[in-house]
Amino acid sequence: MSKNKKHTFQTEINQLLDLMIHSLYSNKEIFLRELISNASDALDKLNYLTLTDTKLKDLKFDPRINLSFDEKKKTLTIEDNGIGMTEEELIANLGTIAKSGTKSFLASLSGDKKKDSALIGQFGVGFYSAFMVADKVIVQTKKAGEDKAYTWISDGKGEYEISSCVKDSQGTQITLYLKDEDSSFASRWEIENIVKKYSEHIPFPIYLSYIETKFEGEGENKKEIKEDKNEQLNTAKAIWKMSKNDLKDEDYKEFYKSFAHDNTEPMRWIHSKVEGTLEYSTLFFIPSVAPFDLYRVDYKSGVKLYVKRVFITDDDKELLPQYLRFVRGVIDSEDLPLNVSREILQQNKILANIRSASVKKILGEIENIAKDNVAYEKFYSQFGRVLKEGLYSDYENKEKILNLLRFHSSKQEGSISLKTYKENMPEGQKSIYYIIGENLELLKASPILEKYAQKGYEVLLMSDEVDGFVMPGVGEYDKTPLKDASASETLQELGEQKVDEKVKKSFEKLIASFKEALGEQVKDVILSNSLSSPAALVGDEQNAMMINLMRQMGQEPPVQKKTMEINANHPILEKLKNKDDKELLSDIAHLLYASAKLLESGSIENAKDFADRLNNTILKTL
Ligand code: ADP
Ligand code: MG
Repeated sequence: MSKNKKHTFQTEINQLLDLMIHSLYSNKEIFLRELISNASDALDKLNYLTLTDTKLKDLKFDPRINLSFDEKKKTLTIEDNGIGMTEEELIANLGTIAKSGTKSFLASLSGDKKKDSALIGQFGVGFYSAFMVADKVIVQTKKAGEDKAYTWISDGKGEYEISSCVKDSQGTQITLYLKDEDSSFASRWEIENIVKKYSEHIPFPIYLSYIETKFEGEGENKKEIKEDKNEQLNTAKAIWKMSKNDLKDEDYKEFYKSFAHDNTEPMRWIHSKVEGTLEYSTLFFIPSVAPFDLYRVDYKSGVKLYVKRVFITDDDKELLPQYLRFVRGVIDSEDLPLNVSREILQQNKILANIRSASVKKILGEIENIAKDNVAYEKFYSQFGRVLKEGLYSDYENKEKILNLLRFHSSKQEGSISLKTYKENMPEGQKSIYYIIGENLELLKASPILEKYAQKGYEVLLMSDEVDGFVMPGVGEYDKTPLKDASASETLQELGEQKVDEKVKKSFEKLIASFKEALGEQVKDVILSNSLSSPAALVGDEQNAMMINLMRQMGQEPPVQKKTMEINANHPILEKLKNKDDKELLSDIAHLLYASAKLLESGSIENAKDFADRLNNTILKTL
């Protein structure tokens, strides 16, 4: 026996373990689901290698998962004959978290145990969940094709130890030394129930070994006979290959829970089998709750690719377009070669075909959800923002996606579709109008809306970050152009009432002094007839598009200068136009600009200057 080597867990693992041990007691039994799922992954990996790697081609491989327990010793063992791990892999996989997304996710946990445990549950608890029920875990493992085997031992308190050991066959065996209060997991009924509940559709057989005690004979001749039993607990069928008729809703739900490591039920599923020139099966799920990493750059793909039931990859983000990254499920093709490389996958025609058909099916199912307002609200609150991203990446389905979007509007509470918007358009309205801003409150208060309200036009209010990226590029919906309502081109087209020439003349002096006072801050100062507030800022559409493009490319766009419109009918300006006090005119020009800016964005740049000018002005009125 070689020397034992002590290692310390990475900080984030300790944090995770601490949470597992102290806060996640509500649903402890999922540890078994997680360990079986790891065993199944290990079988998937070896299965693939035996078919593609010449070194492993001759390996006799009969994939299986074996469970056993000892009631007296309070132990539970999960064993697989899958890929196994080398010493380096043990350290990397069971001592550190490699994915930066998971790391930053853990770093962002609040420390509030209740909140954190809900999050942790959502993100899939994995191997470390063993420590929810065990105070010691021993892992024995041997990598397929290697000679050496290793033991990993830990009590989950900061350290683990690795040493060499002897193990006959490849694979991994994990033994849990159960805590006293969790010793019930070392029982036949408990294990059977949990496996039925969570792992029925693991596509490899799961066996349970136990000893059955029987009695034979009567009276004095009565004899106790112990018999070793080995019972298969699951049907071990790939559910996506089964016929829909043989599956109940419960089957899909349970499969989803174990597949997606999610305790909430899926919102919908789409199961299809395609036969013809191409042959494949797909099973997709729309979750009820967004996965925690939905908005992370390094989100994990939710779709697994199989070829003739052999697992190929779960790490290909191109299997579905990014805007459908919340979808979970399986694609299983009969036509792809087994040894497809990642590069080949990217440009593979068969896969492109499957992908395009899958997108249609998923969008179709979302359309179905949209028929029920209540259900769709639930869907939309979770995935609406992501769906919008499809507007600039999936040109082919743009119209479909547009139909699925919902927006707040200047006319009504709640949200509406573009279709409804169009139906409500009064005669003469030629475009669909929208404004984009920081938040809904600000948008509702925007002076720009007044101009449209006067004509009876509705304006869509958009405050998602992604709106600024996608909306200016949409162009049109159902042959009606979509236009930024705050752009000067749009406002011109709106056909505002012209300001009377005489009135214009009377404001000339004031406008000149405003322009002088504001200088470089504004593009221009002009007179308007269609405001009810004293002033508003308007931009131009071309600029807005360019800014969004620059942001998309990761550049900080230059500050966009806007035109300040002032209200020719407002008493403030009426009174101001005959004043000569240069200082007062300058202060008020800045105050009007600042309040228009506040209405537009909720903040101003120079608060000190604003306060000084306000105080100055107040003083003059006293
Ligand atoms: P995940 O399964 O999401 O990667 P886990 O915490 O469940 O996270 O497992 C961590 C890693 O440990 C796995 O990715 C895998 O590399 C390794 N591992 C765990 N269990 C096994 C096993 N039975 N056989 C081989 N490798 C395993
Ligand atoms: Mg896992």
